[in-house]
Amino acid sequence: MSRYKDAQCRVCRREGCKLFLKGERCYSDKCSISRRNYAPGDHGQKNSKLSEYGTQLREKQKTRSCYGVGEKQFRKYFEMASNRKGITGENLLQILESRLDNVVYRLGYGVSRSEARQMVNHGQFEVNGKKVNIPSYLVKVGDVITVRENKKDNTTIKANAEVNHVRPVPAWLEKDDEKLSGKVIRLAAREDIDIPIEEHLIVELYSK
Ligand code: SF4
Repeated sequence: MSRYKDAQCRVCRREGCKLFLKGERCYSDKCSISRRNYAPGDHGQKNSKLSEYGTQLREKQKTRSCYGVGEKQFRKYFEMASNRKGITGENLLQILESRLDNVVYRLGYGVSRSEARQMVNHGQFEVNGKKVNIPSYLVKVGDVITVRENKKDNTTIKANAEVNHVRPVPAWLEKDDEKLSGKVIRLAAREDIDIPIEEHLIVELYSK
């Protein structure tokens, strides 16, 4: 997929909200949204009204950007969500939250989801004692995610664990600072997800 590697802040400004794509900077007053909360570009400060379709499309793009998921995979998640019991939009968010890269980020071992993805790619984590280097791996209730023994001295992981110590861990995860691990107590519920997403707009978009 095409990812914004150097211009994450522009993505947030385009969407008009903090998507926490850059790590530490996102929690500081250097955050571009705090300083320039209007869309990037020459016409960014103009108030252009989006059509219904445009609004739905933006919401989908915002969600994709936030979790760093490509269009094809996002559509696949939507199909999975539709086939599950319950509310499709909430199911979709639950699936996105269950991605291993997101779990590593939520546990504070990555400063951003993109860093967490890279760490998973580099084989720094295991699930239930087995190395998993697939960022899209979907965790299940009871799974234990641990920094691999030979990576526990990794300076980035240690520094992140230290810096992110104050970042609250969602109630559906249980973190063990000593063991550098976390357990999935239950799957994420809608109220656990702090990102300003109107998931019904995505459902409306894909239901056309
Ligand atoms: Fe940039 Fe992070 Fe702020 Fe988004 S939340 S604008 S990525 S600093």
